[in-house]
Amino acid sequence: MSIDIDQHSGFCFGVTSAIRTAEQELRNGALCCLGDIVHNGQEVARLEQLGLQTIDYDDLRTLPSGSRVLLRAHGEPPSTYWIARQRKINIVDATCPVVKKLQDRIRACYEQHKGDEAQPPQIIIYGQAGHAEVIGLQGQTNNTAIVIETPEQIDRLDFHRPIYLFSQTTKSVEGFHALAEAIQAAIDNQHSPIVPEVHDTICRNVANRVQQLQDFARSHDVVFFVGGKKSSNAKVLYNHCLAANPNTFFVSSPDEVDKEVLLNAGSALEEMKVGICGATSTPLWLMESVRDAIVKIASREE
Ligand code: SF4
Repeated sequence: MSIDIDQHSGFCFGVTSAIRTAEQELRNGALCCLGDIVHNGQEVARLEQLGLQTIDYDDLRTLPSGSRVLLRAHGEPPSTYWIARQRKINIVDATCPVVKKLQDRIRACYEQHKGDEAQPPQIIIYGQAGHAEVIGLQGQTNNTAIVIETPEQIDRLDFHRPIYLFSQTTKSVEGFHALAEAIQAAIDNQHSPIVPEVHDTICRNVANRVQQLQDFARSHDVVFFVGGKKSSNAKVLYNHCLAANPNTFFVSSPDEVDKEVLLNAGSALEEMKVGICGATSTPLWLMESVRDAIVKIASREE
C-alpha cells in the first residue's frame, strides 16, 4: 500500500495567519476567540490547551473591560466592534485581508446606493445563511443584504430593481456562475431593463485547489478527505473530490477511518494507492494522524 498526503491541502494563508496571531498573543496573556478560530475541532482543542478561550456573543457582552478578544479570519459585522468599544474590550483583529477587502466592497456598494428610494438596491450574497463570514458581510449593509444559497431561491428577488451580486469567499465558482445565469435569465424573462452587477469575490486560494484536488483524487484508489463537520469549505472541496473519485470518504479524525472502506475498495491492500487530502481548515498534523491510522489498519490486515 502507498499512502500520499496531498501537498496542496491544508490551511490557507488567512487561517494560518489567524492561528499564528493567536499563538503570539497567547504569550502576552489571556486571550479569547469569538467563535471557533477554525472549523476544525482538533485544532481548536490544541489552541485551547495553549490557553485560548473560545467565547460566544453572550460572553462578549459580559467580559470584564480590558479583556482581549481575537476576531478570526471569517471577519465580524460592525456590531461586534461596537460592542467591544462599549465594553472597553481590546480587539485583536485577525480577519483575513481577502475577507476584509470584500467587506469594504460590500459596504461601499451599500453606502453608494442605500439612498435610492425610487429604485431600492438589492445586494445579494451567494453564501450559506448563518455562516460567520456571511453574517459579517450582511452587517456591512445594515443586514439588508439578501443571502441566496441556490438558484431556486431567486424568486425572493425583484427583477425590476437594481441587483448587486457578491459571493462568500469559500463558495464554488460553478455555483456562483449558475446563480448569475439564473438571475440574468429571470431578468430577460420579465423583459426588465436591469443590468445586474456581478462581482465574483470567491477566494482563489480555495477555487484554485479544486483542480489540484480532483487530479489528486483521480490518481488514487481510495481517498480520505479530512475536514471539520462545521466547515463550509470542507463540504465544497469534499464534493469536488467525490465527483472525481466515488471512493472518497469524509473523516474528521483518525478514529473515523473505516476498515471496511479499505477492504471493500476493490484492490488488494498491498497494491492500493491511498490518498489523504483536506480543506483549507485542515491541519497537516491531522492528515498525518489519519495516515498513521491507515498504516495501523493495513498492518493488522496484511
Ligand atoms: S479561504 Fe481565502 S478568504 Fe477565506 S480565510 Fe482563507 S485566504 Fe482568506
